[in-house]
Amino acid sequence: MNYKALVEDYRERLIDDLMGLLEIESVKGEPTGSAPVGAGPKAALDYMLELGARDGMAIKDVDNIAGHIEAGEGDRLFGVLGHVDVVPPGKGWDTDPFVPEIVDGEIVARGVQDDKGPTIAAYYAMKILHEEGLPFKYRTRLIVGTDEESDWQCTEAYFKSEEMPDAGFAPDAAFPLIHGEKGISTFNFVQKPMALDEHEPKIELKVLISGERYNMVPEDAEAKLKVQQNMSEVIQSYEDFLREVEADGAYEVDNGFLKLSMQGRSAHGSTPEVGVNAGLILIRFLNGLALDNNAAAFTEFAMERLVGSTDGSLLGMDFSHPEMGETSVNVGMINYTEVDGGIFGVNLRYPKGLDFESGMTGLKEEVYGQGFTVEDLDYQLPHYVDREDPLVDILTDAYRNHVEDDTEPFTIGGGTYARTLKKGVAFGAMFKDTVDTMHQKNERMKIDELLMATEIYLEALHRICIKGEMDEDKLL
Ligand SMILES: [Zn+2]
Repeated sequence: MNYKALVEDYRERLIDDLMGLLEIESVKGEPTGSAPVGAGPKAALDYMLELGARDGMAIKDVDNIAGHIEAGEGDRLFGVLGHVDVVPPGKGWDTDPFVPEIVDGEIVARGVQDDKGPTIAAYYAMKILHEEGLPFKYRTRLIVGTDEESDWQCTEAYFKSEEMPDAGFAPDAAFPLIHGEKGISTFNFVQKPMALDEHEPKIELKVLISGERYNMVPEDAEAKLKVQQNMSEVIQSYEDFLREVEADGAYEVDNGFLKLSMQGRSAHGSTPEVGVNAGLILIRFLNGLALDNNAAAFTEFAMERLVGSTDGSLLGMDFSHPEMGETSVNVGMINYTEVDGGIFGVNLRYPKGLDFESGMTGLKEEVYGQGFTVEDLDYQLPHYVDREDPLVDILTDAYRNHVEDDTEPFTIGGGTYARTLKKGVAFGAMFKDTVDTMHQKNERMKIDELLMATEIYLEALHRICIKGEMDEDKLL
């Protein structure tokens, strides 16, 4: 099968269908009776299902929030999982984000890279096989979600009633292939109220605030202190501290209060080690002061449990997997007030092999003894497909047949749509040199890359669903 020539034959139709999809403002909105995540996402779902019906494939709508288009026949099912909802466009575009334009060989529109372009590429791969009239060994199903950018209600609803594919991929990340994703948890350490100081403390911590999201390293922090005496000594020690740790901080005296600020460096919550956590640095300084009881308990807890290491060892949750790497701990939010005490918002990611649940049970008991509870725990288990699995081999090989790139399949600390499949990997559609414009202004995708991705998906589906190569591999 000449994948390149076939895709070239469909070039204009593919681009037309994609342009139509890009015109739909499929940002999550107010739910209505027949549109649980808003009219835009529902219209984009309908659009996809209409393409499937137009092209003579079976379609199904699931609760107006997801659906599928299916080609072929057989007992077994291969799934491709894409999404047609988009994040809000934001400001600063050179073009209208919902009036797609072709500029210098690139399509510019919200969602073209994430994930409407890749979804249409996968759709065309399936449509071409369908129109070639070849016998399928696996039914091939494009599953379309409409809530990927928010709460994944789409896949939740879908898999409640629909069949889980035997294997599949999500074209919603990068080539060559992501075969492992860490477990992702978020929780809060919440300080229990303590008895007030019996004697007048020297320094009262009124407020400390740093960070807004679990999945980002806080880049700034602010604290407000009431210093009863020796204000200049405290200021001097802050200056010494900043010099010693080479941190970027400032202070201001205001009506008897001392306000301290700290600058760090932001990073994604999956890689806290490359950032500088402004809140934790400020706590290191505060911990050296003669603080009131509550504040002292708060900073001591941080020093013992959170400061100085991001690999989970201070929480007893460190673990390393040869391919998935180590546990990572990001303290994304820190909040302290004199009245309510302190909260640390933690984003802990961990590789396959760590017994997360029993680790958390132990951790809860230990921190309870330190005056803290664990609240609002939310987690997703790690997702992993063996590197040696035929699925990984065939997809990687299909990619390498079109692109000169020996990059090995890899694992990440983040989460992709692939984790909603029982045996799924993320496969494209960003290439090695692609500029990542997802969720940004002027989101764009090269037409050459769109067609190349379609060729790769066509080869992958042809080899798996028509030729049955996954099964041949298993017999070896
Ligand atoms: Zn996406």
